[in-house]
Amino acid sequence: MAKPTVVLVPVWGIGHFVPMVEVGKRLLERSGRRLTITVVIMPAPTPKWASEIDEQMRKAEAADPDIRSVYVPFVAPPTDHSGIEEFVSRYVQMYAPHVKTAVSGLTCPVAAVVVDLFCTTLLDATQDLGVPAYVYMISSAAMCALLLRSPGLDEEVDGEFVEVDVPGLPPVPASCLPTGLENRKLATYDWFVYNGRRYMEASGIIINTFAELEPRVLAAVVNGQCTRGIRPPPVYTIGPVIPVPPPTTADEHEHECVRWLHTQPPASVLFLCFGGGGYSTAPQAHEIAHALERSGHRFLWVLRGRPAPGTKQPTDGDLGELLPPGFLEKTRDRGLVWPKRAPQKQILAHAAVRGFATHCGWNSILESLWFGMPMLPWPDAAEQHYNAFTTVVSMGVAVAMNVDRNNNNFVEAAELERAIKALMDGEEGKKVREKAVEMKAASLKALEKGGSSYMALQKLCEALHDGAVLTS
Ligand code: UDP
Repeated sequence: MAKPTVVLVPVWGIGHFVPMVEVGKRLLERSGRRLTITVVIMPAPTPKWASEIDEQMRKAEAADPDIRSVYVPFVAPPTDHSGIEEFVSRYVQMYAPHVKTAVSGLTCPVAAVVVDLFCTTLLDATQDLGVPAYVYMISSAAMCALLLRSPGLDEEVDGEFVEVDVPGLPPVPASCLPTGLENRKLATYDWFVYNGRRYMEASGIIINTFAELEPRVLAAVVNGQCTRGIRPPPVYTIGPVIPVPPPTTADEHEHECVRWLHTQPPASVLFLCFGGGGYSTAPQAHEIAHALERSGHRFLWVLRGRPAPGTKQPTDGDLGELLPPGFLEKTRDRGLVWPKRAPQKQILAHAAVRGFATHCGWNSILESLWFGMPMLPWPDAAEQHYNAFTTVVSMGVAVAMNVDRNNNNFVEAAELERAIKALMDGEEGKKVREKAVEMKAASLKALEKGGSSYMALQKLCEALHDGAVLTS
């Protein structure tokens, strides 16, 4: 009989797609190739996202014959929504009949359908088919705790949230909550709670974290403290799931940013990079420039410009327009401003880098810790403010900075300068650096034979293999 397949249903955006497919690769390896991977592609709402995903999918299929894709017919996205949680939930719900048809058409046994964090509207289809469904949290255990806790909060708290109690974490101020919980009158809030409630119906929750990074909040999740005493489905912490490209040794293939880092002293450079969608306006770029100038530190700054109208991707930064006059000349010996996407992982891996100013996307946090890099959190959207909060107060791997969430996350030069100095040379910086280095060792150990994530992946493979059912 054909090997059982694990069906992955990723959503759009490389930050979601890549860690989902990477999980598939790890399941293949660890199962001793007793499983195969089927990626169901729900065509993306924008051509740019669609072509990025097609490219990643082609690469994954070319690299491994046990990975294959099934494209379902395109569905036009919802025309209105009140937030990303609503958009993803409703859009995926519109795709559900096609996903169901695709899964029921598979001729091999189906071990499970693995869905992304706001895709539990697909659970109706998996339940109809009698197939186990797993939720894959491509974010933190703290985020999983908050989602699981949200139906309880919804019943217990009147009015807007002021401070939220998430077992395993210090009280979370409303200003640090993910966008979905910011305004309870919006439909996107209801979808956040909806997804959290439906996690309890899954056969398991896979989290891209490692036990040593978030021990208290994980214990609270597993013990049912986030779900009013009812234990959730089994939790598998299998991270960090980061595709790390092999280092490039040949000089001619090295990126210009990496070549520049070769010319800098060890542990001296602040790296500033704000995710795939991060960009700065000229007023904000001026504040950053002043802070960098006054801090006296070396820096590598990825500075991109506002997306063109009707698009979501940042444009290449026009440095003449964005930077104060004379800045590049004054900092020529100690700084590089890079106006395009940069090879973040290679940069974080470089010995010249000392700290990372990040928007706190979960992949960026995991990558930073994989390379033992302490952080300066500068969150923007989605769950990044919550991630920033946990990196400071729960993980102890970042210094805090005041970000004005009510003013497009604006930070003034003086505050940024203070935070840069705290990270790069202060006592606080020393403490968070030590913790980040400790987490680097812990993340490596977690993935090694017998480590916490290694064992969790093993258990997951066994559960998947044992649960396989024939749908056709
Ligand atoms: N990234 C990169 N270069 C850039 C910006 C981002 O390589 O200039 C990569 C980064 O290494 C990470 C991903 O893009 O793997 C961003 O994922 P994350 O979850 O941190 O944030 P998102 O962009 O999804 O908000």
